[in-house]
Amino acid sequence: MTDSQNQPDINRLRNDIDHVDSEIVKLLAERKGLSLRIAHEKGRVDRPFRDQNREEDLIAKRVMSGQDHDLDAGLIIQVWRAIVNDSVRVQQEALGRSGTETTGVTVAIQGIEGSYSYLASQLYFGAKGSEVSIVTSPTFSEAIETVRTGRADATVLPIENTTSGAITEVYDLLLDSGLHLTGDIKFKIRHCLLGLEGASIANMRKIYCHPQAVAQCSEFLATLEDCEIVHFSDTALSGKRIKDLNDPSVGAIASEEAARLFDLRVITSAIANRDENYTRFVVAATEPIEIPEGVPAKTSIVMAVGNHPGALMDALAIFSDGDINLVKLESRPIPNNPREELFYVDFEGKVGESSVDMVLGTLVREARFLKVLGSYPSRDLRPKPKPRKTESKLSKVREALVEPSPTTDDAKGYRLGSRGHKSTSTVVEVAGARFGGDDLVMIAGPCAVESWDQIVATARAVRDAGGSVLRGGCFKPRTSPYSFQGLGLEGLDMLAEAGKIFGLPVVTEVLSPGDVDDVAKKADILQIGTRNMQNFSLLAAVGRTHRPVLLKRGMSSSLDELLQAAEYILAEGNQQVILCERGIRTFENSTRNTLDLSAVPVLKSRTHLPVVVDPSHAAGKRELVPPLALAAEAIGAHGIMVEIHPDPDTALSDGPQSLHLDQFEELMVALGIPPAGRVSGA
Ligand code: PEP
Ligand code: MN
Repeated sequence: MTDSQNQPDINRLRNDIDHVDSEIVKLLAERKGLSLRIAHEKGRVDRPFRDQNREEDLIAKRVMSGQDHDLDAGLIIQVWRAIVNDSVRVQQEALGRSGTETTGVTVAIQGIEGSYSYLASQLYFGAKGSEVSIVTSPTFSEAIETVRTGRADATVLPIENTTSGAITEVYDLLLDSGLHLTGDIKFKIRHCLLGLEGASIANMRKIYCHPQAVAQCSEFLATLEDCEIVHFSDTALSGKRIKDLNDPSVGAIASEEAARLFDLRVITSAIANRDENYTRFVVAATEPIEIPEGVPAKTSIVMAVGNHPGALMDALAIFSDGDINLVKLESRPIPNNPREELFYVDFEGKVGESSVDMVLGTLVREARFLKVLGSYPSRDLRPKPKPRKTESKLSKVREALVEPSPTTDDAKGYRLGSRGHKSTSTVVEVAGARFGGDDLVMIAGPCAVESWDQIVATARAVRDAGGSVLRGGCFKPRTSPYSFQGLGLEGLDMLAEAGKIFGLPVVTEVLSPGDVDDVAKKADILQIGTRNMQNFSLLAAVGRTHRPVLLKRGMSSSLDELLQAAEYILAEGNQQVILCERGIRTFENSTRNTLDLSAVPVLKSRTHLPVVVDPSHAAGKRELVPPLALAAEAIGAHGIMVEIHPDPDTALSDGPQSLHLDQFEELMVALGIPPAGRVSGA
């Protein structure tokens, strides 16, 4: 066919396009008329100009119907944002009001322009009438950091996909991010095979593709012969990559938007296994959002329950008792803690609603760890009937849960740790040792781990005498910088290994926030020493872990200050705090410190947390340790921690207050703790 024969066809098609365009113009004019009528209605009833939820819904609906007609989401968002903004302007002019309410928002994403995170951000914020600026980052954690450091207002992160499941890395990062969830959005993913001009399926030899997309398009990819699939970290970037390669035998799987951005051709569209391929994104920011009454909302939390039979059932029963509808339950392993799982739970309702506050209030008393990631409006949910106006008794508890550090107006400055919050005593369970239960728990070991032989000999003595926990300092907080500072992580390896051999959980002190993760990998209990009781960033850091914390009283701190320090840990989510009285500074200098035994009953009346006593650091002299330990038992301590050493005279720290191993054995007999069956071979 010649060019001239072709011409009439093209002319006819151009005429058709002209016709369609003039219809679009007529429809826009009709729309403007309707919009003006609404303006007059708004003027009569004095309604606010912008209903951003409605605008957001409207654009989302247009995107959905556009997708049914193979129209690109990015195009629909741009066109309808322009239409909606114009509508608002027209309404404002009609009523003589001024000022547009368009605001700018900076959003951090993982990936580049054209990625699905990019499109979801445009849809979520663009639909709210905001001008969206995107900050791109190579990793999820950098996107989170961008928000944390104030370089972006929010981040939009993919959390799960209908075909390939949870995006676990994002779950793990969210927990420690300190950010609040402020929204979520379900975005239809439309994977396409993209290539250069002249590319075809038959000639494709290599396809760059994100592993998630490989999983979601596995059926299509299986039909390709002689074609290598190369994993690529970013969907949109794979489009850019093939553009740069300029080789028609290389393709990429990405969105239509990416094709437009990088000037590529869509070779085949809709190649996912299932047409219904959605990714859910969550929106996170540094501050929680206010949700107007009546707007359906969802709340996301993270919790750890005990590992006894029925623990998860019991926790879930709290939701059903509170008439709260769970919409999602996802479990994640706790790193280095194979016996326990973290549960991510989404449920209907928002923090501040009395039923939700009640459930969270009960849950925090039962769970080992609880953190509220945020409450946010959710379009997936039906509106709820307006709640009755009742002031929530637990709103302050809720604040402590939501805020990373407690803001409380309580005169004593603590709440989660108080008996008022939880009347029943908390039992902190560590590998069979139950702090706060009926039995006295004995912790014993050297002041510092010094060598393999030393820790093994001590661990054997602790196990044989019926002790429950092995202690040993690896990072030592020495008053003088010239004193032995501990063997560090090398010492911790020895301690953990010795604990394993003798079946004892281990406790060791952590000195700085930067060490918390490493120490939590090996230690069953994290100790905060007297000198760090008010090191608030350290308290917050251990509060974010899932390890029980042994919190020692500051040597010059009051009991209320000790409870406020514990509150820093609890408010971060970790509910497993054991308090330790270890002697305070007084004018008396016959002993290293003065053991404040009355702290035990006073603390037990103020808090539900278990209380243990360390007579060794109080006395400073070994002969005083057994009588003080007996006194601690008599006054009701839940546990006792003593320093022991195979050869105290050669100890690198605190030798004078360390018991010989046989003295420890005698103390255990005096305390009435039965020795363990002397199993040989260990
Ligand atoms: C310890 O128990 O190892 C220790 C250093 O104790 P304190 O912090 O009470 O001095
Ligand atoms: Mn010591």
